[in-house]
Amino acid sequence: MTRANDVLRIIRKVYGSNGPLALHAPVFTGNERAYVQSTIESTFVSSVGAYVDQFEHMLADLTGAKHVIATTNGTTALHMALLLSDVLPGDLVVTQSLSFVATANAIAHAFAVPAFVDVDIATLGMSPDALRLFLERECERTDGGARHRASGRRVSACVPMHSFGFPCRIDEITEICARWGLALVEDAAEALGSWHGTRHCGTTGRLGTLSFNGNKICTTGGGGAIMTNDPALAKRAKHLTTTAKIPHRWRFEHDAIGYNFRLPNLNAALGCAQLEQLDDFVAFKRALAQRYRTAFDAADIPFVHEPENTCSNYWLCAILLRDEVERDLCLEITNDAGIMTRPLWEPLHTLPMFAHSPCGPLAVTEHVAARLINIPSGVCARVPA
Ligand SMILES: *Cc1c(COP(=O)(O)O)cnc(C)c1O
Repeated sequence: MTRANDVLRIIRKVYGSNGPLALHAPVFTGNERAYVQSTIESTFVSSVGAYVDQFEHMLADLTGAKHVIATTNGTTALHMALLLSDVLPGDLVVTQSLSFVATANAIAHAFAVPAFVDVDIATLGMSPDALRLFLERECERTDGGARHRASGRRVSACVPMHSFGFPCRIDEITEICARWGLALVEDAAEALGSWHGTRHCGTTGRLGTLSFNGNKICTTGGGGAIMTNDPALAKRAKHLTTTAKIPHRWRFEHDAIGYNFRLPNLNAALGCAQLEQLDDFVAFKRALAQRYRTAFDAADIPFVHEPENTCSNYWLCAILLRDEVERDLCLEITNDAGIMTRPLWEPLHTLPMFAHSPCGPLAVTEHVAARLINIPSGVCARVPA
């Protein structure tokens, strides 16, 4: 028996199922149908409607963010958060190579260039040590803020990401950003329901963003949100994401080049029903993770668990195999058996469109990218009590 067979056996045992398993399928067992039906009946399916406001208020309650602005997806939320952070064309924005491509795409959509630093093995999120090293080795402080020496680019912002719902070391990152004058935008797309102590992921920085894509812990079909505690920023975010229209009963007047990033009411209706179940989803996934952890520990296969002093939503559970060969064997055996498992994203610094981005050392990113697989993590009726 190989360890790859152990992985298959453990997943089946934990889920109590010999059938196929998705990586993360959404479940709609709450008020989804009723709320979506009511938006259709109201005819307010588009960019105006009560569910958008309700969705934003529910998110503010759930996360403790003072202001929440719903958007069309997580990428547009991040794009807008960068614009609101005064990221200018040609700037450098420091982020992690270990992320979904949307993180770097949003930086490029703001006409800035991503710079990639390493992650911590314990959090899979941005390493404050790697960030500090990149700034100290490659950048200098000037009157206009931080500057990347080799390229001459201004370094204006930093985007850490809370990978798979594991909170990264945000306090140390915050401190470094403050010292270097970088705007902090947290990509909390995967971390709805994850906490550092009493602070929800994405609410430490000036701006944080969420995603409600179909594979996330709660979905609106497609959707995103911007979180901030700053009322002026929130007002600006709402204005710019809704075509920068000056409110008036009939006039079409706009005072900036705005964006059509507003979440449709139809999607917000689905989202309200999903948010009502967030606590249940998180509880389920934490129980699932506990069962995985016990089983993988017994098989001596490292299961990625929440960092100390944090509470993770365990959006996607992950294990680390010995090497690339064992990882690929494991992917093959599980997927052949109908058990959906997935490798990590190709590190962003290796993608052709980001090949010229500055990078710090990326040893942990490369180590993890060769060994990690995500295993079925969805909330499904058959799974553990
Ligand atoms: C899902 C995700 C996003 C946003 O994705 P959208 O599909 O645009 O909602 C951004 N960053 C990360 C890390 C993600 O996982």
